[in-house]
Amino acid sequence: MKPRAGSKALIREINEAFVLDVVRAQGPVARATIASQTGLSPATVTGITGQLLGSGLLVETDVVRDTGGRPARLLELGHDAVVAAGVRISSKEARAVLVNLRGEVVAEHREPIASTEPPEVAAAAAKAVQATLRHASASTLLGVGVAISGVVDQEGGIVKHSGSMGWEDVPFRSLLRRVLSVPVVIDSYVNSFAVGLLLFDGRLEGQNLLVFSASASLGASVVVEGRIHRGFTGAAGGFAHSYVGCGVDPQRPCHCGAVDCLETRSSLWGIQAEVARRGAGEGSVDPVRDAEVIADAATHLGVAMANASKMFAPERVVLAVAPELDFAELTAGAEQAFRGQYVHENAPVPLFESMANAPATLARGAACTVLGRLFTADASGLEAVDQAG
Ligand SMILES: [Zn+2]
Repeated sequence: MKPRAGSKALIREINEAFVLDVVRAQGPVARATIASQTGLSPATVTGITGQLLGSGLLVETDVVRDTGGRPARLLELGHDAVVAAGVRISSKEARAVLVNLRGEVVAEHREPIASTEPPEVAAAAAKAVQATLRHASASTLLGVGVAISGVVDQEGGIVKHSGSMGWEDVPFRSLLRRVLSVPVVIDSYVNSFAVGLLLFDGRLEGQNLLVFSASASLGASVVVEGRIHRGFTGAAGGFAHSYVGCGVDPQRPCHCGAVDCLETRSSLWGIQAEVARRGAGEGSVDPVRDAEVIADAATHLGVAMANASKMFAPERVVLAVAPELDFAELTAGAEQAFRGQYVHENAPVPLFESMANAPATLARGAACTVLGRLFTADASGLEAVDQAG
């Protein structure tokens, strides 16, 4: 590829991202490995790593590897130079964490939310971030990532729809920018969860994944070769509102305006509504009393996951379950229904994992969304450019 004309500063920024990305994925690594992986010359790598060591983004380990020539110390990501904040927004609280460059949580704070009016939620999120910063040392705050339940247009900074917040087309990123003087990235719960999963797990590097989340609402994250596929206005993964009615039951109205969406059967909201319709306790779900409703929810969820998975053929499928929906009957039933859909020999079953999807996990994932940008240069469509060459 012919290098595009660009300023030296831009080229340096791109090369730094490539170098940091190799260390993130494989660290601790030798400079020689960085050179061979990025295609940059040893001299350029020495120059870039020197700058990154100076800024604290990289540190030298005590491990010395003899690479044939001069023994060299290995490099790994620094832990003090920068932090990123992540906030998980719900209708009740803004839960913030601060993570270091390695994705380790170094501070947490929970700020109650009195109203779901967007400006008030933005103020609570800012307050939560400020509180975590009081626990941080002199690190630089890279930015704030925010996870919100619903459909989020990350590029436009708009929450397109959030049932739990009662929001439609809320320009939440610009509201946050008014109260936070750093870059802000917003994303859905499930995409934040997926980023938190992907960023520091070398096993998932470049993989295709489908991540399904089950909580008050349902969501899915489509990961293509290690990157989230967002689709038109961020609506990819919207399997919650696919039609699953078969005309046998009374119709189940969905909060989206349609009827018989998967959401009405397999989300906590849908399960609660069906339990209430059957005359049992409002809002509470009892796995023994409501076994039939939960079994139905599990079957529909498992089949829907398999349908999506067959279309896409990922190596791995993850079901992320929120604490309020963590019924063994649901997760085991959904997995069984999922596997039950793979009966043909020519359709291998993807690896299937259930994971806990706690609020703090989502806040960390939102922070990882910010961190991820440090390691990404390819958004500009450029390759590593050797200035010496
Ligand atoms: Zn719906």
